[in-house]
Amino acid sequence: MDFRLTEEQEAIREAVGEVCARFPDEYWRAVDARGDYPGEFVTALTESGWLAVLIPEEYGGAGLGLVEAGIVLEEINRSGGNGGACHAQMYTMGTVLRHGSDEQKRRYLPEIAEGRLRLQAFAVTEPTTGSDTTQLATRAERRGDGYVVNGQKVFISRAEHSDLMLLLARTTPLEQVESRSHGLSVFLVDLREADGAIEIRPLEVMMNHHTCELFMNDLELPADSLIGEEGLGLRYILDGMNAERILIASEAIGDGRWFVERGSRYASEREVFGRPIGANQGVQFPLAQAYAQVEAASLVRFQAATMFDAGEPCGPQANMAKLLASQASWNAANACMTAHGGYGFACEYDVERKFREAKLLEIAPVSNNLVLAYIGQRVLKMPRSY
Ligand SMILES: Cc1cc2nc3c(=O)[nH]c(=O)nc-3n(C[C@H](O)[C@H](O)[C@H](O)COP(=O)(O)OP(=O)(O)OC[C@H]3O[C@@H](n4cnc5c(N)ncnc54)[C@H](O)[C@@H]3O)c2cc1C
Repeated sequence: MDFRLTEEQEAIREAVGEVCARFPDEYWRAVDARGDYPGEFVTALTESGWLAVLIPEEYGGAGLGLVEAGIVLEEINRSGGNGGACHAQMYTMGTVLRHGSDEQKRRYLPEIAEGRLRLQAFAVTEPTTGSDTTQLATRAERRGDGYVVNGQKVFISRAEHSDLMLLLARTTPLEQVESRSHGLSVFLVDLREADGAIEIRPLEVMMNHHTCELFMNDLELPADSLIGEEGLGLRYILDGMNAERILIASEAIGDGRWFVERGSRYASEREVFGRPIGANQGVQFPLAQAYAQVEAASLVRFQAATMFDAGEPCGPQANMAKLLASQASWNAANACMTAHGGYGFACEYDVERKFREAKLLEIAPVSNNLVLAYIGQRVLKMPRSY
């Protein structure tokens, strides 16, 4: 058992760190204040190849695994940035890679790897069904040679900044499905060709996340936009969700490291009552505790990523990584904020921005309650609540 990163993995962390160093706190603070999409950062990450880390070499990517992709996202968040601006491309691409046809892979993956196409939007959540994905109501009906989609989605991030969108929609009415997990299908939607059939309404939220409501009215999709087999969409999406959870955990770990570093640095420098505030256990211990929690979450995250890369089932590990990392990050956020006193609220310290960003990872892409239900019911085999 070796818990250290390889030289190549350390080199990836350093190289990503060099890209991030070109986008310091002032950059992220300014895009946050203006509500702008951090397009320059996403372009730099794409040009340096790090956003295509999971795309196989034959399609122009780096052909590396989830361990390396996690290192990339962790380093972005550890440096003070927000991988949430572009992370979806990493895991949504996996659905095309694992379940798309050869023709779909040849058409899209090299363009995504080169940065000519952005696949940043992933449309699952609906206003009336929330966490219960099996009840999704957005309907994709077979008509002629293709499909016609009608329905509404909510919290669909980056839809305005993406060329392509992965859409989960119902192809068989709920009352006709054999099991709740059947009857949904995945489509790769070219947003540039939607021709007004998708209305995108930005939704203001507490952080700079570019999330939107989508209203689809008679959206016509060609038959070849279907990924894999009709009716098996939920399975494909769930398959990609382990990757998503491990990558989100990596971002949370990066945030956690940022909070611990900034909090302990400030606590060592700020003097009140004639000594550094960090000498007081009320300030020091929460930061030390947060550090230990982030380290522990990181180990579970690497365990999950290693299993995923080996092609082994890793549902429990991926879920535990997401749970522990988002909790560790949130505890670190609170310790850092408290250590900063009033200055934690001053935008120029960036703590309040990172604080707002870190909270999301307890709720999205899946709320920690649902993760606990998965562990309680699927792993520990306790009675089901749903
Ligand atoms: C900023 C932001 C960006 C997002 N981006 C995307 C995106 O790009 N694409 C996308 O598809 N979605 C996105 N989402 C949606 C996100 O995945 C959902 O908000 C999340 O899954 C929770 O769904 P909900 O908000 O409908 O909450 P609900 O399902 O209504 O749940 C509300 C609360 O009740 C709890 N709860 C519900 N059922 C149970 C139960 N059985 N047991 C215990 N507790 C329960 C939940 O844990 C939660 O705390 C985003 C959300 C936000 C806020």
